[in-house]
Amino acid sequence: MQFISTRGKSSAANAAEAISKGIADDGGLFVPVSFPDLSEKLADMADMNYADRAALVIGSFLTEYDKRELSSACVKAYGQFEDGDAAPLVKTDDGMFILELFHGPTLAFKDIALTLLPYLLRAGSDIYGVKEEILILTATSGDTGKAALEGFKDREGVKIMVFYPSEGVSDMQKLQMSTQEGKNVRVLAVSGNFDDCQTAVKKAFADAELKAALKKEGVVTSSANSINFGRLVPQIAYYFSSYADLLSSGEIAAGEKVNFVVPTGNFGNILAGYYAKRMGLPVNKLICASNSNNVLTEFFGTGTYNARRKFYKTMSPSMDILISSNLERLIFEFSGRDSELTEKRMAELREKGVYSVSEQELGAMKEIFYADCCGEEECLDSISEFFEEYGYVADPHTAVAVNAMYKYKERYKDDRCCIVVSTASPYKFPSSVYFALTGKEEADAFRAADMLYKHTAYPVPQQILSLKKKTPRFTEVISGKDVEKAVLSFAAEK
Ligand SMILES: *Cc1c(COP(=O)(O)O)cnc(C)c1O
Repeated sequence: MQFISTRGKSSAANAAEAISKGIADDGGLFVPVSFPDLSEKLADMADMNYADRAALVIGSFLTEYDKRELSSACVKAYGQFEDGDAAPLVKTDDGMFILELFHGPTLAFKDIALTLLPYLLRAGSDIYGVKEEILILTATSGDTGKAALEGFKDREGVKIMVFYPSEGVSDMQKLQMSTQEGKNVRVLAVSGNFDDCQTAVKKAFADAELKAALKKEGVVTSSANSINFGRLVPQIAYYFSSYADLLSSGEIAAGEKVNFVVPTGNFGNILAGYYAKRMGLPVNKLICASNSNNVLTEFFGTGTYNARRKFYKTMSPSMDILISSNLERLIFEFSGRDSELTEKRMAELREKGVYSVSEQELGAMKEIFYADCCGEEECLDSISEFFEEYGYVADPHTAVAVNAMYKYKERYKDDRCCIVVSTASPYKFPSSVYFALTGKEEADAFRAADMLYKHTAYPVPQQILSLKKKTPRFTEVISGKDVEKAVLSFAAEK
């Protein structure tokens, strides 16, 4: 299948090239020329396991990839999840389900894409004809970094470098990254918040001088962030998978529409849901849930995206984002795939921090999207109420989604089936969750995890227990302007 840039100034690429490059040469994001229709495959999927469902969905876009190889890569990637199920669907109530995407190696939904991306990228680069070593540059708000490090560590022909905001991640997230093992990895903290970090990394990608210097070292860069289509495409699969599970358990009838509630930051997860809808999945509403950094709630309410606002550090740090990169793909679709207009809006965002879409575009978006947000107090309340009501221990990101679901239900009296996409294990944020449930402060993450277990009897994952014994290996903090220097020096290391 062919892919085009949202900004229209680079030539079309096949999937292999799009994934290998990560971002189009004109700075735009790669989008498929069309969406394959899988509506006739839903019944078949009901009888498949997760890996086969994923291979079907992913293969429908990645038509140049070898089908057998892709299938076995999916089996290998998703075999790393607890009980071999990458996306179990848990029923909490009639018509209410939690899609748990956090049973992978690093306990967040990023594992779904990042356990598979190393294969997608290496195979894509081989098809595209890349001979150089690939250097993965990743900005992370906490979870992508660790998932990418685990996925790419000690892989041949690849190096990976992760940048995280020095003060913007949870203690557990920081420890997961700073203790990372592997010969081909580097982790650096960047002073400032996630947007500062992401901006510095994006700048490094766009820098022609750096690109030339890297080329001399025999290195090309690529991205493990959700701007890479290879990150998005595995995420489409779990929307189909959860629907297939509802069909096979008889919870819904064929064709019945469902709602998805998605805790949102960079807009990658929920965009995959939108793509699933375009591919024929019966989706009613996609509910976009934000924390106090509610730039998307405002956007879907008013049609104006305004990043010039106060940045809040919250207990759901993976959503502490003011520039949602993947929204570019959505506004491209709703503009009628007008690349000139999309480029103009992105330039306005860069230069003035704000842009607007038309009334008509906003109206069309609202047919599909509902957006809401909650503050810290409400998030704590949602964690404790959900536990009291259902005995379910939600992490703060998932709780933001639960909160938005109730607001949506209250407002629209819609009792269609709701699937809350759960993105992290509560044990990644044990102090916040323990505080929400008991009102007691415990700053030490491991002690908090232990107390949380005693309070809820929800088992502590092995990954957390083994983290306790590790010593940090990467402790350096740099400023955003030194990112490019750091990239070059890591690239030159043999
Ligand atoms: C990354 C992340 C999100 C936000 O996902 P986007 O694709 O950036 O919208 C939400 N929750 C958790 C736990 C995450 O790691």
